[in-house]
Amino acid sequence: MVAARLHALHTPMTLDTIPVPKPRPNDVLVNVKACGIVPNMGNVINNWMTWFPHQPLPKFPAIFGLDPAGVVEEVGEAVINVKPGDRVYVSPLRSCGSCQACRSGHRSLCRYYTLNGYFSTSRDGQRIFDLHPYGGFSEYMTAPEYALVNIPDNLSFEQAGRFGYLGTSYGALKNAGAGPGQVGLIDGITGTLGVASTVLGLAMGLSRILGTGRDENLLKRVKALAPDRIEVMKLDDGSTGDWAKSLTGGEGVDFVISALGAKAPAATMQDSMKGVRRGGKVVVVGGVAEDLPVDVKWLMDEQVQLIGSNWFTAAQGQEMAEMVRTGTIDLSYLEHRRFPLAQVNEAISGLKDRDGGFSNYVVIP
Ligand SMILES: [Zn+2]
Repeated sequence: MVAARLHALHTPMTLDTIPVPKPRPNDVLVNVKACGIVPNMGNVINNWMTWFPHQPLPKFPAIFGLDPAGVVEEVGEAVINVKPGDRVYVSPLRSCGSCQACRSGHRSLCRYYTLNGYFSTSRDGQRIFDLHPYGGFSEYMTAPEYALVNIPDNLSFEQAGRFGYLGTSYGALKNAGAGPGQVGLIDGITGTLGVASTVLGLAMGLSRILGTGRDENLLKRVKALAPDRIEVMKLDDGSTGDWAKSLTGGEGVDFVISALGAKAPAATMQDSMKGVRRGGKVVVVGGVAEDLPVDVKWLMDEQVQLIGSNWFTAAQGQEMAEMVRTGTIDLSYLEHRRFPLAQVNEAISGLKDRDGGFSNYVVIP
């Protein structure tokens, strides 16, 4: 099979011919049809060692590729619930499987938590990379059966390649307790996680979604997804927290999803947080450029919860797949930019993108 492999940092990936792996007893072999990427992935990989010297990367030569989708080709001898021919999304979340967190279904809380084909934020992640050396930039990959999400026929492999970002947004909405009748504020609504949170939030029954962003054209495109349920505001046009309160009769929103980019000032998030109602939740899936100064007395008085949210469970992935199957969520907003495996370096080199969260970069092995 052909796989794109990185042999050293700051060098391009090369297309190498290597043997098709044999699945272990609890693994399956997947014929990869599409693998989603975040533009700028190359930057993340190349700078990882500098930013986070104690957090591991796969050993070189490494096969990256975070969000693969494809068809099961073969199953290990102990796999009884998956069969060849199944269309699947492979969640890259890997964990030990037997600690207290894993056994209670919270695999992202495992000390071995690792995003296969990308990076690990866990010191112990190297063990996982060594056990799971195949990412999605390859014609075939092995994956543990626990990581599979069965996808319906009306979900294309390209759309499934976006499930990582959709799922991260879904996990955040679940952590926010989002549901019918609520109002949510999405900070950074025009980005990948922002648009995904909007589409999912509408499907989950939110009455209204308020969103902030910098690009006026993208803000208009987001509002056009549901003009009577979405309100948008350009950042720097005043206080976002005051705006959120003014649109909710002074009460505040039920929750804030903070999906800002890594370069955003902390003051932006601090402002939006103050738009939450008493007992509301602030869920972080993005990041800001600096430490966030939090008024903990306000947090206590208003009984506000500040929650970090990271990835999602395969079961939540299955819920999203079911929402696609039934037409509850519509992923037609995604505009695919397809790259053959031979152009993987171009695809991950950080192309400038004016379409924010509407564009979907996929590598087609
Ligand atoms: Zn574990």
